Amino acid sequence: MRPHSAWCPICFEDWKQNNQPIYEPLIWKLKVINVCPSHQTLLQTKCQNCQKILPQLSSRSQPGYCSKCYQWLGIKKDDIHDIDQYLLEKMSLKILKNALTYQQEEIGKHSLNLYV
Ligand SMILES: [Zn+2]
Ligand SMILES: [Zn+2]
Repeated sequence: MRPHSAWCPICFEDWKQNNQPIYEPLIWKLKVINVCPSHQTLLQTKCQNCQKILPQLSSRSQPGYCSKCYQWLGIKKDDIHDIDQYLLEKMSLKILKNALTYQQEEIGKHSLNLYV
C-alpha cells in the first residue's frame, strides 16, 4: 500500500460524465501500480490545483475531490499534455510483455496437464 493517494484523473472525469458513482479502486492504492489499466495514464499523486500530495482518503473525504482545496480532481483526456509520452509507451510495453509472459506460462501449464 502506498502512503498517499493516487488516482487516474481520466477515470474520475469519465465516471462524472457518465453519471457513475465516483470511487477509488483498490488497485490505485497498490504501490506497484503506477499506470491506470484502462487509460494507460500515470496515476496522479498531487492535486493539479494546489499541488499538494494528498493523504489516503479518509471515509469523510469525498472521492474525486482534493481534501485540501476541495477542487475536482478529474481531467479530460484531451487536457492532459504534461505526461511523458516516452515513459508512458515504455510502461505500456512492459505491461503488455508481462501479460504475454503470463499467458505463455498459463498455456505451458495447461499443455503440461495434458500429459499428466
Ligand atoms: Zn483511468
Ligand atoms: Zn487541491
